Amino acid sequence: MTHRSRKPYIAGNWKMNLDRAKSLDLIKTVKGRLGDGNDREVGFFVPAIYLADVTAVAQGSPLGVGGQNIWYEANGAFTGELAPRMLREVGADRVLVGHSERRHVFHEPDEWMGRKVRAALDTDLLPIYCVGETLDERKGNRTDRVLKRQLESGFDKVLPIDAHRVTVAYEPVWAIGTGETATSEQVALAHRMIRKWLAQRVGEEAANLIRILYGGSVKPDNAKELMGIDSVDGLLVGGASLQAETFLPIIEYDR
Ligand code: PEP
Repeated sequence: MTHRSRKPYIAGNWKMNLDRAKSLDLIKTVKGRLGDGNDREVGFFVPAIYLADVTAVAQGSPLGVGGQNIWYEANGAFTGELAPRMLREVGADRVLVGHSERRHVFHEPDEWMGRKVRAALDTDLLPIYCVGETLDERKGNRTDRVLKRQLESGFDKVLPIDAHRVTVAYEPVWAIGTGETATSEQVALAHRMIRKWLAQRVGEEAANLIRILYGGSVKPDNAKELMGIDSVDGLLVGGASLQAETFLPIIEYDR
């Protein structure tokens, strides 16, 4: 199966940026330019406080809207956290799990990842599970080992039957928000390793349904080249997803 048999997926991660008015403007603009969603999937990962408003504006379009994080329990004494069912209730249909800022700024351990991915799937939220090595880990030739460890924890409770609902994002930590993009060769190698690992974990047929995105300083001028890499099924975009002028050309990378 070649990568283009999987629908390209372009995702924007707003992180803790924009305000309510700018968020709604951006959704309206992208919604207006989006086709019927048959040839590509577009999703926004927005601050949870804006989810209800953003999903209301996105309604009637193929735009997906998701949260940037969840906790894996449904209720309880977890001050400051959000249950997957709460994101569903305000219209989200997807969620990021294990973003590098969650891992490295907020010290989320590997042990939580499998439970978060499972909780998302059990609540009908489509997870993008993020993995990626730091610069030290790459320089120390530990990239493969780190990615395998992160995959092992994230896929701990994923069954072959769930696989088509899970997306993996390969995001080298040193490329996120730095302006430094991984080379095509680095991306291709990491993606091939990830797909091989997935095939061993869930079987080739199920693994072929899992999209693997690249993330890390994606911009309008490198989106086409990145999407041209045989093993890249889509892009996870931070900074360049905050404005229609930079995000639309990435969505339309092939036009
Ligand atoms: C991200 O937020 O996942 C990301 C890749 O950010 P940026 O595109 O700004 O590097």
